[in-house]
Amino acid sequence: MKDWQAAASALYDGGFRPMFINGQWCESQSGEVMDARNPATGALLATVPKGGAGDVDAAVAAARKAFDGPWSKWTPFERQALLLRIAERFEAEWENLCLSDTLDMGMPIQRTLANSRRVLGMLRFYAGQAVTIHGHTIPNSFPGEIHSSTVREPVGVVGAIIPWNAPIAGSVWKIAPAIATGCTVVLKPSEEASLTVLMIARIMQEAGLPDGVLNIVTGLGSEAGAALAEHPGVDKIVFTGSTATGQSIARAATGNLKRVSLELGGKSPVIVCRDADIEKAVPVAAMAVFANSGQICIAGSRLFVAREIHDEFVRRVAEFAANLRIGHGIDESTDIGPIISARQAERIAGYLAIGPNEGAEVMTGGTRVEGADFEGGHFFHPTVFGGVTDEMTVAREEIFGPVISALPFDSLDEVVERANATPYGLAAGVFSTHLGTAHKLAHRLKAGSVWVNMYHAIDPAVPFGGVKMSGYGREGGTEHMEEYLDTKAIWINTD
Ligand code: NAD
Repeated sequence: MKDWQAAASALYDGGFRPMFINGQWCESQSGEVMDARNPATGALLATVPKGGAGDVDAAVAAARKAFDGPWSKWTPFERQALLLRIAERFEAEWENLCLSDTLDMGMPIQRTLANSRRVLGMLRFYAGQAVTIHGHTIPNSFPGEIHSSTVREPVGVVGAIIPWNAPIAGSVWKIAPAIATGCTVVLKPSEEASLTVLMIARIMQEAGLPDGVLNIVTGLGSEAGAALAEHPGVDKIVFTGSTATGQSIARAATGNLKRVSLELGGKSPVIVCRDADIEKAVPVAAMAVFANSGQICIAGSRLFVAREIHDEFVRRVAEFAANLRIGHGIDESTDIGPIISARQAERIAGYLAIGPNEGAEVMTGGTRVEGADFEGGHFFHPTVFGGVTDEMTVAREEIFGPVISALPFDSLDEVVERANATPYGLAAGVFSTHLGTAHKLAHRLKAGSVWVNMYHAIDPAVPFGGVKMSGYGREGGTEHMEEYLDTKAIWINTD
């Protein structure tokens, strides 16, 4: 087994890590810094610049200069080759990238390591997409006199703002389509997890990314993030984060009517029908929430179970939850790591109190993890609430923590109506051995993704995103390329 502790000490020693603008590694203009701390221990990993509006200006100017300059002359084949070189570098440095993420945001190392297929797949998928961009020749009302055709052009400077819960996949899913289409990027990582994104910029630079094509401004959402969202030099904002922040970004983007795509929060339903394969469904339904300590946008946090099997199923999910190993992310046997911050831990603790106050029954968990090993961080026992009703707060609001609310149902029509009765529409799960039931539910649920007899699958080739207040726009698939392209019509008088 690898000595992750030794590798961790070699990776971060508390020193300063600069941000990345126009191919240069720099401080913020104010000289201010923010701490990057390990959420499992509270230990200082590094300090990073606290960028502000002036730094965003400099990054946008660099991105514009690159967009209008030599980068615009790169052929699709050259951009493809660059993405493939980046993929190779990622593969070579994969363990370090994962370790960095585990230290900076707490995800168990066995989970970050397992994401390689998805992330390397993204880089290679968009490398393939780079050479497929094309317009059409379109017959018009003046045959023989006027020739009309379309070309697809990159939208320009893209402002990307990401959350802390999946920095590697989250940033690559914003940067790779930009490189594929010929856009340039100013990316603001979360103030809770900037370090791996800086490492990614270094890897991309070493792979031959030209200056200004990718710029990273570290800083607070309310300062650097807000400056980027309202910047008149930005043509498009791609955002992943909470619904409340997404709303403020959409408002800020109206200044120059920049295009916006939003990947936001959720309160996703998982429906277990009475004909489900219980043995297989229990661990999947449990990990639909407990993976990454519940800090996942697609968490299937409303567990609807057919009344005939409800009690047994929920008991087994609770048993499964109670046996999960809680620990530090760099321990390979850890199933559930820490919560990202004291603020997020307070939020979760609040919901753990509200649940029983409103009448929910604690089937397992419900408390923080105590003990010497857990003192520097914030850890929670995975929690299953039984006896939940649709009106309860824990059944309505996104908790972003390891909490399942179990709710019985009596008929498919009823459960569809209840599952859809939420402002969100990110994802849904269905467990049934009946093909017709699975199909019917998959079509009737209002969500961007529906998984049947599985959960969590995300692939670069398959579109992902939300409906309703979970956002708009898609990442993944050919649809994703559309988000970074404009269509221009060209008319030629041939007479
Ligand atoms: P958040 O909205 O607090 O922050 C996300 C990013 O926005 C951070 O970089 C932050 O600095 C920045 N930000 C904050 N205020 C801003 C402002 N006024 N203007 C511009 N930028 C601002 O979210 P979080 O706590 O980092 O992440 C958790 C949330 O993200 C959850 O709601 C989760 O569901 C959602 N999420 C969604 C997806 C998805 O694909 N749909 C994926 C991961 C997380």
